[in-house]
Amino acid sequence: MGLDPTLWSAPDPRLRSLDRADDLVRQITEYVRDVFWLKEPGSGRMLYVSPAYQNVWGRTVDSLYAAPASFLDSIHPDDRDEVIANLGSQLTGGYDVEYRVVRPDGTIRWVRDRAFPIADEDGIVGRVAGIAQDVTERRKAVEELQTRERWYRTVFEETSDLITVFDAAGQRRFVNPSVEKVLGYEPSDLVGTSVLVNVHPDDRSRVERLLTKVKEDPEATARAEYRLLRKDGTYGVFEGVAVAMREGGVVETIVVCARDVTSSRFIDPLTGLPNENLLTQHLELFARRSRGGLAGFSLVVLGLDRFRSITSLVGEPAADQLLVEVARRLRAQAPEASILARIHGDLFAAILQGVTGLDEVLAEVSRLEAGFGQPFASPMGPLPVTAGFGILVAPPAEAGAGEILRDALEALASAKRLGHGRQEVFDESMRRRAMERLDIENGLRRALQTDELLIHYQPIFDMRSGRLAGFEALARWDRPGAGLLPPASFIPVAEASDLICELDLWVFRRAARQIVSWRERFSRHSDLFVSVNLSGRHFQGGSLADRVKTILAETGAPPAAIRLEITEGVLMKHGSATSDAIELLREDGLRFALDDFGTGYSSLAALHRYRFETLKIDGSFVMSLGTPSERPELVRAIIGMAHTMGLGVVAEGVETAEQLAFLRRSHCEFGQGYGLGRPMDEAQVEALLRRDPIV
Ligand code: C2E
Ligand code: CA
Ligand code: CA
Repeated sequence: MGLDPTLWSAPDPRLRSLDRADDLVRQITEYVRDVFWLKEPGSGRMLYVSPAYQNVWGRTVDSLYAAPASFLDSIHPDDRDEVIANLGSQLTGGYDVEYRVVRPDGTIRWVRDRAFPIADEDGIVGRVAGIAQDVTERRKAVEELQTRERWYRTVFEETSDLITVFDAAGQRRFVNPSVEKVLGYEPSDLVGTSVLVNVHPDDRSRVERLLTKVKEDPEATARAEYRLLRKDGTYGVFEGVAVAMREGGVVETIVVCARDVTSSRFIDPLTGLPNENLLTQHLELFARRSRGGLAGFSLVVLGLDRFRSITSLVGEPAADQLLVEVARRLRAQAPEASILARIHGDLFAAILQGVTGLDEVLAEVSRLEAGFGQPFASPMGPLPVTAGFGILVAPPAEAGAGEILRDALEALASAKRLGHGRQEVFDESMRRRAMERLDIENGLRRALQTDELLIHYQPIFDMRSGRLAGFEALARWDRPGAGLLPPASFIPVAEASDLICELDLWVFRRAARQIVSWRERFSRHSDLFVSVNLSGRHFQGGSLADRVKTILAETGAPPAAIRLEITEGVLMKHGSATSDAIELLREDGLRFALDDFGTGYSSLAALHRYRFETLKIDGSFVMSLGTPSERPELVRAIIGMAHTMGLGVVAEGVETAEQLAFLRRSHCEFGQGYGLGRPMDEAQVEALLRRDPIV
């Protein structure tokens, strides 16, 4: 530190201020936050210590002058030995230690302490000068970095995304374990290979452009869709998001987070059969053909009996293998000209081309059913499995794909009601049930005009302060003669048509008006928000953003008072239309929450892409805390990950005090659940608003 050593050799042994130092030096020592000290090594006497000592150590300067050895008492017991071992180097140079200081009030500061021996002309060290710097903030940052790294590691291992870290030359340096599920490789198979090694030849230039873009533009995150070769020789479709990590302005690594979107396109990745999308397209095509007078067709759908209990009995991987085997047997039994598909879960379908007579269809169904004649292999030994069949014979020419599939599924539902291994042909009684659903649909349409619909509001609390933060608006239907219906009894019907959009917007309008009124009338709650659920259907048409804006204008609700909840499934299904709509609304100041997180794909790429403000951990994870199926480490990892991505977290389904305590400890900001507050009507909300913040 270029100071003149003579400045420090003050004659007065009880030097309190640096008499002979010039003003500048005194000012530095008196005002900087670092602690300067000067010691006489022979006697151990403290000659000077700057006032900052009081701030860092929480002790008076005088106490140190009076008892220089009290310095050692103030050091954390775990660090004391190291400091003592290093004291000798204060005389020889090189004393540079970090230790914790325990203040009298018990709080802890991290200190970096350095010393410089000051020798006279004869080379005798008569003084030692030192600087002790408060490095608590830096240490905290390092510790935070370490926990963040731990979170990332957990998430790397849990996510279904494929995360690859490339070096600047495009060699793979790190691949997360999901590669095994997604592509069939071990991470070690791919580490060290070039980026293009398993990219489909037609997509290589696209991947190269993706990497070039992030290399050139430090701010950019780039996105591309491309095919990757699986170990089994098939290709999967992936959506990759890339970011470049820089070190001193130079690109060090590129991280690509890729999501398998194969299934959301056309193929079921598990069985390799066409998925629901492709099935619908085929049905559309066949329906058009039969309208044109070409060969007709029939549709058979089948679902395994007791599949849920089988899954819980043998475990998910074995249940998946069972589905693969079902697909294989169906393929072996189905006629050449048929099209097989897996709709989802244990639901399969077969389009029988040119088969239009009831007897013919039933004959084909018996052949398909023969596939279930032999038991299936399972970890528990041979397992007999049966299936129910829903049959739709030669649908009328005017029927569309959606209707055809719905009728066949109706027949299947009715077969399932009869018992195991049953078959049902779609008929009038089923049409009747379809009518019942239509009745709900019509009733609901009316309910939207009258005042049969209402909202219950479930409080969301800030768990740090215990204060009420907002509400989630949950639809209820007070149907004449039927009582108060929960959403489960009408939302699914509404979801099957565009009615859900009307319903959601009704809830939105009503809740927006309500929140404006509450914010005004309860001045302590002027920052209250309301969360509104949005179905995926909104993202199929294009008018969501406009309609939302109209409602905001109509009700005068500030956009920041509204939170829109969407589930992950929505994002997976509707690609770019969804992201455009979300982006538009975000620009207008609306905020988004990702609902039911953890139940679906738990995709980091999606979180990154859509830039949500809030993540809602699904209630099932929270409610299982404290039970044998709990996964606390996963809950913690989700919270940590959300925080590093800048998202707030709401835990749903908080029922017990233990769950609440765990979430608080895990730094989860918000909580919602029966243990904190059930969904309530407007009058109950107002009573709560008067009472809060007493939780
Ligand atoms: P959600 O969005 O996940 O809403 C939370 C559900 O969990 C609510 O059920 C709520 O009452 C329930 N819940 C909250 N805390 C607890 C708890 O501690 N324990 C348990 N066991 N359950 C708890 P609700 O009101 O029956 O709603 C069910 C679902 O219906 C909602 O799930 C949402 O998906 C849908 N829904 C409700 N209102 C609307 C709406 O206006 N539009 C749309 N599209 N969907 C809605
Ligand atoms: Ca919700
Ligand atoms: Ca939820």
